[in-house]
Amino acid sequence: MKVVEKKQHAKKTEKPKGAKREILKKAAVNCNLPEYENFYNTFSWQDAQKEISYFFGGKVNAAYNAVDRHLHNGRRNKVALYSVDARGHLEKYTFQEIYEAANRLGNALKSLGVKRGDRVFVFLPRIFELYVSTIAIAKIGAIAGPLFSAFGPDALRDRLHNSEATIVITNTDLKDKIDAIRRDLPDLEHVIVIGPKQDLDGAHASRELGEGELDYAQLIEGQSSELICEQMDPEDPLYLLYTSGTTGKPKGVVHVHGDIIGQHMTSKWVLDLKEDDVYWCTADPGWVTGTVYGIFGPWSNGASVVSYEGRFDAASWYKLIDRLKVTVWYTAPTALRMLMKAGDDVVFEHDLGSLRHVLSVGEPLNPEVVRWGMKVFGLPIHDNWWQTETGMQLIANLPCNPLKPGSMGKPLPGVYAAIVDDQGQELDAGELGRLVVKPGWPAMLRRIWRNKDKFDEYFKIPGWYFSGDNAWKDEEGYFWFVGRADDVINTSGHRVGPFEVESALVEHPAVAEAGVIGKPDKERGEIIKAFIVLANGVTMNDNLLNEIKDHTRKTLAAHAYPREIEVKDSLPKTRSGKIMRRLLKAWELGLPTGDVSSLEDD
Ligand code: ATP
Ligand code: MG
Repeated sequence: MKVVEKKQHAKKTEKPKGAKREILKKAAVNCNLPEYENFYNTFSWQDAQKEISYFFGGKVNAAYNAVDRHLHNGRRNKVALYSVDARGHLEKYTFQEIYEAANRLGNALKSLGVKRGDRVFVFLPRIFELYVSTIAIAKIGAIAGPLFSAFGPDALRDRLHNSEATIVITNTDLKDKIDAIRRDLPDLEHVIVIGPKQDLDGAHASRELGEGELDYAQLIEGQSSELICEQMDPEDPLYLLYTSGTTGKPKGVVHVHGDIIGQHMTSKWVLDLKEDDVYWCTADPGWVTGTVYGIFGPWSNGASVVSYEGRFDAASWYKLIDRLKVTVWYTAPTALRMLMKAGDDVVFEHDLGSLRHVLSVGEPLNPEVVRWGMKVFGLPIHDNWWQTETGMQLIANLPCNPLKPGSMGKPLPGVYAAIVDDQGQELDAGELGRLVVKPGWPAMLRRIWRNKDKFDEYFKIPGWYFSGDNAWKDEEGYFWFVGRADDVINTSGHRVGPFEVESALVEHPAVAEAGVIGKPDKERGEIIKAFIVLANGVTMNDNLLNEIKDHTRKTLAAHAYPREIEVKDSLPKTRSGKIMRRLLKAWELGLPTGDVSSLEDD
């Protein structure tokens, strides 16, 4: 079955003209992966093993690769982390400093009896100790559980209870949230609390410690800065991370130490990290992007990573890029749409000339946003596709390939992705179907924590991993996202993906954001209903409404335009910024809202 209309695709698959690229002049990119086709056809993961440090007998530790090995390859005193706090104060930490701090904490955790396989969760804002904790936990062979600092009690309880975590590392600001649910967590033995900064620097203030609570500074005091890294089987668990909860209850995805080879190579190819880069991944390590591409992947490549504790704000973000001379920037469509909404003037108030490579993940990236990026940054934004379950990027716009705005790019070397029907039969180019991947890429999920049925569902048809997303592939092998399988709209016998309609809507200057659903309709099966957020300063009236409808009718096929448009102040999103279409639908139809623990509440 064809998606929307071929004519439409022809338009959308057009190569960007590179139109306004001259606004900020950039040197040509000399990429780590200079050629795609031939490399894709000949690459095998074994070829990449030489990039990873293994112990005797094929044992490995992801944290050793991320930190320890740089003490012996000339990067000992290189800045590993530029840590900027919410007030803008900058601290720099070298690989040596991360190594020593992680060893102290690792020894302290061992003294508490933490063993291989125990779950140790990290509930911290983006501060130095978050990075140190993740590395320390991995070094001693325990399983790291990243938690986003904005989680409320329900989200925390679900994850800590399901994972049977024995330790949580948190700070004084966040501790109350754990206290509030502690009695529901019988497995939780210790809560390690980081005090205010001054406590860590000098004499610790004598804070009252509750039962089962330990002071981080006291705990690491006197611990050795040497620690023998656990030599793990590549199949031993590294981290346990819950999905975003966009489509339902978050799933606890288990990843292993052997993932490091995939994390390393994709950071090298897709992020294109080089020795002198200053790299900023805006995702919190509470989400998979922040753990894989904010910690393990870039550090394994020896890159200097920027961590910003503050919240989103256009001017502060641009200021940070300018101040630290960020060169590679990995962010998300929701942030880019908000930046676009903040206008172009604020961009030009800063010098963003250091940027050389910009990437996006997490949601479909509207072509309009890519065009805007060309205009204001003079750079194309490179979309890429992956999931918590896939553990690494699988489909990407590599710097060496021509970029088609609106496409997720091509499968990475060592990855075979396809579009299939419900029975697993591969479909031809241009046909809408299910996005699947041949199992066996290195960072593939190994388990869903305490939910084997859910795990088995991903592999229900032998030979494929079912992603749950719908997409199509063009003649040149580029993949185009259509929507979550559950979100696809059936209207008058046509299947329409919400993303295409949303992208057409945000092309209109009055529309900042759009979320589109199918609404049951006697005549047409479903009609398309759009919820939109207006751009700053715009108010809705009948003329504008008709203009927006006309615009989408012209851009999309006649059957694919939204018959109903409703203006909202904001769209429901997960805490990681993804539009929750299932909530728009539930509200519209008066249905139960299901699991809302991931819903952003501020
Ligand atoms: P849950 O599985 O709990 O419903 P989630 O799927 O949003 O939540 P994640 O693993 O964080 O959890 O997100 C992966 C999903 O995000 C993908 O399946 C896809 O729907 C969407 N996504 C990620 N990258 C892209 C992209 N480049 N283009 C379109 N969609 C993307
Ligand atoms: Mg998912």
